[in-house]
Amino acid sequence: MKREQSEQLYKQALEHIVGGVNSPSRSFKAVGGGAPVFMNKAKGAYFWDVDGNQYIDYLAAYGPIITGHAHPHITKAIQTAAENGTLYGTPTELEITLAKMLKQAIPSMDKVRFVNSGTEAVMTTIRVARAYTGRTKIIKFAGCYHGHSDLVLVAAGSGPSTLGIPDSAGIPNTIAQEVITVPFNDINALKQALERWGEETAAVMIEPIVGNFGMVMPREGYLEQLCQLTRQYGALVIYDEVISAFRFHYGGAQTYGAFPSAEAIEPDLTAMGKIIGGGLPIGAYGGRKHIMEQVAPLGPAYQAGTMAGNPASISAGIACLEVLKQPGTYEHLDRLGAMLEAGIEAASKLAGIPMTVNRICGALSTHFCDHPVTNYEEAKDTDGEQFAQFFRLMLNQGINLAPSKFEAWFLTTEHTVQDVERTIHAAEASLKEIAR
Ligand code: PLP
Repeated sequence: MKREQSEQLYKQALEHIVGGVNSPSRSFKAVGGGAPVFMNKAKGAYFWDVDGNQYIDYLAAYGPIITGHAHPHITKAIQTAAENGTLYGTPTELEITLAKMLKQAIPSMDKVRFVNSGTEAVMTTIRVARAYTGRTKIIKFAGCYHGHSDLVLVAAGSGPSTLGIPDSAGIPNTIAQEVITVPFNDINALKQALERWGEETAAVMIEPIVGNFGMVMPREGYLEQLCQLTRQYGALVIYDEVISAFRFHYGGAQTYGAFPSAEAIEPDLTAMGKIIGGGLPIGAYGGRKHIMEQVAPLGPAYQAGTMAGNPASISAGIACLEVLKQPGTYEHLDRLGAMLEAGIEAASKLAGIPMTVNRICGALSTHFCDHPVTNYEEAKDTDGEQFAQFFRLMLNQGINLAPSKFEAWFLTTEHTVQDVERTIHAAEASLKEIAR
């Protein structure tokens, strides 16, 4: 597969855009480097690059594109919004409509506020939790990504209850000292952290179903225990549902049928993004009324946004949820997900390349290892070189995956059985090649 135009454009991009990309995850650094593919058209489950090559897309723009690219219902909603003016700086009825839809699907949110990205949503939930509790520390989980604001770009120390160290230059140690990182799925580690820091902790922040070191479910009872322990110390539970909201069913991870009691795992605050904007920039956060009333103009926690709740993003979000609400949507995603999972597992066995596939509905992750992946350490302990080889072999057969061993594959409502069959054939050929 020739990609000369992409290579040319990458050279130009490097001259004008830092690193040639507008988000580091788009670079091919984690898969051996070189020019990323420059796409110029996307429709349904497919991408076309500037050299005219076609790809089946499993990146789904890192998650938002669950109804496929350029879905007609969403496109129409965006067109209408554009004709009516894209930004007012005043309230609109559309915002009420989307807020009501979110609240209906995720009842732990009495009140919602729209922002422009997942990063902003998460960042603000932390501010609100700090304002509400009058405390400063945050406990988070190794490998969970919560956007790029200072507090959540802090890595684990060497033990479960150590204070954090910055994950990025430009974050002062004083900020990192406010963050404690513990391993996911290890309730004792959280217990120890709370015993030591609980009285100073404003919130425990978690991806209730992880999407950032592969797709990882919490162990049975883990979220229940987490909520109970956190509240014992008077701290708030924040769920980062930026990936998980509307991913596995019409609702959040917190209302997903896989958990026996939605009440027992209910968070105090929830952050969302991605899917709820139907492919346009969005974020939202929400929670119980008495907590959300901390937010300006009602309360002392300030948060604002020129673009927040703009009619284009909100219209796309409403349209996207309308599509997802159609009967059979998640059954389709689950069916294709199961097919893909089985096909990849069979291909890995056939080639003799050990792989662990984690799947939840239409989202799955492929790990080159012979052990389960239930936390970040296990996700790191996988063969990155084999993944890089797999990624490139798949790309050259027209299958577009995310260029990182930690990222998930996302199916969309537009993928077909034929697309999945083609993908499985490509995986068989790729794994056979890796085994040579
Ligand atoms: N939270 C989670 C769980 C995410 O996966 C991401 C992005 O991938 C974010 C927050 C940040 O969202 P955004 O990139 O919209 O700022």
